[in-house]
Amino acid sequence: MPRLPRSLVSGDVRRHNLTLVLEHIVRSGPSARSEIAEATGLTRGAVTALAAALTEAGVLRETDPVASGKGRPITRLELAASDLAVLVAQVDADTATALLTTLAGDELFRVSARHGRPMGEPDAVLDVLASVVAEALGVASGLGRRVVEMPVVVFAPVGGEPPVVLADTDLGWGEVDVIGGLRSRLPSLPATMSLESDAWLAALAERSVLESTESMLYIKSNSGIGGAILLEGRLVEGAHGVGGALGHIVIVPDGEPCECGQSGCLVTVAGPDVLLERAGLAGLVAERGLATAIDELSSQIAAGATPAAAAWDDALPWIARSLQVLSMATDPDAIVIGGFWAAHTASIEQAFRANRPTLAGPRAGAPAIPAVVAGRLGADAALFGAVWAARDAVLADPGRLGV
Ligand SMILES: [Zn+2]
Repeated sequence: MPRLPRSLVSGDVRRHNLTLVLEHIVRSGPSARSEIAEATGLTRGAVTALAAALTEAGVLRETDPVASGKGRPITRLELAASDLAVLVAQVDADTATALLTTLAGDELFRVSARHGRPMGEPDAVLDVLASVVAEALGVASGLGRRVVEMPVVVFAPVGGEPPVVLADTDLGWGEVDVIGGLRSRLPSLPATMSLESDAWLAALAERSVLESTESMLYIKSNSGIGGAILLEGRLVEGAHGVGGALGHIVIVPDGEPCECGQSGCLVTVAGPDVLLERAGLAGLVAERGLATAIDELSSQIAAGATPAAAAWDDALPWIARSLQVLSMATDPDAIVIGGFWAAHTASIEQAFRANRPTLAGPRAGAPAIPAVVAGRLGADAALFGAVWAARDAVLADPGRLGV
């Protein structure tokens, strides 16, 4: 086997070690060189040299010395990167949002605008998305920050190369090139853009804050119903990029037709449009927007107010049955409930447990019944997921930071 040139090997090792140092500081906060050495397994000397390069490039800076208790003050290293930013653009069934953050994920600026849900008119929606992105880019420029990564989050399956939205039933879209549409409207967009499906990002974000969920089912509802399947730490994307499209599990025999072309999808009996209509809140959507209307719906369900609570009770058996089917198909550690459903996890769990096996699985001594737990990140789960994924992409390639 031919040996790699020495410079290439050492370059890769150096890049890997730079990433180790950066990841430690991003996850643990300001750290002393000795703490970084201990956590990463690098030598103290290596950490000192890497930290010097990162400080020189403006990626890290030293904190003021603080007393250590042993007499000698400690200087820690923290993320500086004060001229960089991550910009996430997100479009759901009601609203376009732009979120500008530091590389560490701290929010710098956020703006949202409702697009009015013009069904089947992607250009009208992209105009609104481009306007909030332009505003955030203006703020970044005013702060003297360069946008180093720009993920675009859509509430729909994504596929292809370059990636496009495959179909968005909430907006009546077929295939739509969102990144191309933004670039044609805003020529000054950053070079590094990606298109991501909300539920996958939200699932990965929730997994990073929940423990022991290597295999999990994630289902959420805010704009439509979305989901993701993680098996042994890996996201199931599927052969056509629609793995985890849990809103379109066909669950109702002879059910209503769905925008996706099937009949009887979960979203036709438990989606936000159906629940809001049955709760008498469709007018509030038109007047104040989907997010506000869903907040109201959720409060009324929690308070047991009719007709919202009755609509929820009608939806619960279908949600439960979908999870029972999926649970048997995938045998996860946990089912994580996201979006506004998170606040109603107890009622979902109760309905889910109403029809579970009593036979133990071959591996464990107990029946294969996963825990049903509430997600912790609320409606922003996909935004957080996008920011964290962007940060990890940058940290994995420190050359982009000028190191
Ligand atoms: Zn469907």
